[in-house]
Amino acid sequence: MADDQSTEQTFGFQAEVKQLLHLMVHSLYSDREIFLRELISNASDANDKLRFEAIAAPELLSEGTDLGISVSIDQEAGVLAVSDSGIGMSQQEIIEHLGTIAHSGTSKFLDQLTGDSRKDSQLIGQFGVGFYSAFIVADEVEVLSRRADLSPAQGVRWRSDGQGEFAVDTVTRESRGTEVRLKLKDDAKEFLEEHRVRALIRKYSDHISFPVRLKQQGEQDKEDKQDKGDNEPVNSAQALWTRPRADVSDEQYLEFYKHIAHDFAEPLTWSHNKVEGKREYTSLLYIPSVAPYDLWNREAPKGLKLYVQRVFISDQATHFLPLYLRFVRGVIDCRDLSLNVSRELLQNDPHVGAIRSALTKRVLDLIAKLAEKEPEKYQTFWQQFGEVLKEGLAEDPSNKDRIAKLLRFHSTVSEGDKPTRSLADYCAAQESEQKKIYYLVADSLSVARSSPHLEIFRERGIEVLLLVDRIDEWVLQYFTEFDGRPLKDVTRGELDLDAVDTAAKDQQDDTTGEDSPFIARVKEALGDQVDAVRVSHRLKESSACLVLGEDELGFQMREMLKAAGHEAPTGMPSLELNMEHPLVRRLSREESDDDFSRLALLVLDLARLAEGRQLEDPAGYTRRLNDFLLALGLDDSPPVEERA
Ligand code: ADP
Repeated sequence: MADDQSTEQTFGFQAEVKQLLHLMVHSLYSDREIFLRELISNASDANDKLRFEAIAAPELLSEGTDLGISVSIDQEAGVLAVSDSGIGMSQQEIIEHLGTIAHSGTSKFLDQLTGDSRKDSQLIGQFGVGFYSAFIVADEVEVLSRRADLSPAQGVRWRSDGQGEFAVDTVTRESRGTEVRLKLKDDAKEFLEEHRVRALIRKYSDHISFPVRLKQQGEQDKEDKQDKGDNEPVNSAQALWTRPRADVSDEQYLEFYKHIAHDFAEPLTWSHNKVEGKREYTSLLYIPSVAPYDLWNREAPKGLKLYVQRVFISDQATHFLPLYLRFVRGVIDCRDLSLNVSRELLQNDPHVGAIRSALTKRVLDLIAKLAEKEPEKYQTFWQQFGEVLKEGLAEDPSNKDRIAKLLRFHSTVSEGDKPTRSLADYCAAQESEQKKIYYLVADSLSVARSSPHLEIFRERGIEVLLLVDRIDEWVLQYFTEFDGRPLKDVTRGELDLDAVDTAAKDQQDDTTGEDSPFIARVKEALGDQVDAVRVSHRLKESSACLVLGEDELGFQMREMLKAAGHEAPTGMPSLELNMEHPLVRRLSREESDDDFSRLALLVLDLARLAEGRQLEDPAGYTRRLNDFLLALGLDDSPPVEERA
């Protein structure tokens, strides 16, 4: 096609785009109609952006203020096209936007894909398919565009067959905005049928604020239909959130969610509210059912769009919700903000602060309602977003109590592998004298369940909450009390399980008591590896356990610091010994200093292992254990069966 004056240049797609294109075409086949939603969404975003830029530069609208979107089908050419009169793209922009993926963490995301198309299609759904979904239905895609602030001579054409390369050329383009032309694959010709396309536009785009018109481009049809004035918008073109709640069906709410969130999965719940009075604003907030792949990237784009009087301002309304609610998707439309709001202004605007705290409460209430009314959905919520929500305990002191009620835990009384226990459940089940809420932090549920620290609690029938999320220890530094009861880490400090301990202490005699020579001898053998050695009152079956000081940094925090490249503090735990345990008794009778040391070290390592810790010296541990096993009386006699 290139003529003599062609300035066409060819580029390779970024490797991630190639990978994504390949996967998409193979795993989204059954959802392929979504390409139309994605292209219309992009067109709508482009119109939004133009309207926004035109606030400061009204001349951008000099060619006309009509911001429509049209979908045209050309039966003969087999082409479906989506065009907008929005912001458009410059040559540089088109190369960047339609050749690379801007999301950070893309390759990490792509690594998670399994090759199982059902699973992958869900993941890709989470990622957001966007423009590239055009290649699910098209052999060839051509994009014609002109940025609104450039001249007709600075139009650009982009073409690709989605195989690895795309070509870009300068063209003359009279109208601003973008047209995306799809040469449909043979098996995708259904998207040339008017009724099919019309139904899809209604389904996917009813709620967007721009009119979407359908045009037939088959020679005769063209004239006929246009003459008949058949140019009414297919959609109702009224931004969904501006409609009264009663006029919006659940189905429409769900479709709108897919439009703004680019998510394939349905949201768990939503809340649509119009606030009148001193500050007028409307919010439509959704709680997704699947976490986005970049949930843990605190710098990743957030899902709230800001409009001021229906004019789109930003798709990262980060000032309107705290970071720990970053999974919320939706729209906020404020009446009283200036259209010229800048990020700095938003940050300091008292209106924004007030709206933010109102929205925060609204979201927390919405989540609380879900917990109360739909426990099963709440389980999904908690599994996907619980850990993020917990950050709020540290970051949002004013809502600590609200958040605390939403927490769910594993516990020594609940069997399954799902955290279902709330703090209210815990408190309700306790005998009234129990003043504390006991918990244990561990790396995994199995390590937690088999921790020696739980032995005394099991014996006494006292429930302990088992915390196994990466951030638990950090969060618990900020969350120390619920409903008037202090939270107590069972692996730290003294255990004051009422009078019990005093009784136990009274039984100690001089040979095994706290100040006995035996305890001092163990401490001497272990040296700096432990802060102190004590007699334990919490162990029933295990020989020993490690106990941290009340204010010491725990193991989880130490590992977090280490991972972040900081030096972990050196404070050591104390070793508590179970004086009833045969191994400890044996130790107390050992006369040889050498054997005493080796056995004491073994007891310490066993305590570390029981908590799922790394050993300081695994080789030494293995050697010592071997020595003891050999001492059991292994000899050269033949295996048992040969003896007979
Ligand atoms: P996303 O919309 O999630 O950013 P896409 O792959 O759909 O991802 O699009 C990539 C980028 O290409 C968009 O962010 C936008 O900058 C640009 N783009 C796509 N379609 C259009 C359009 N119709 N008009 C202007 N820019 C567009």
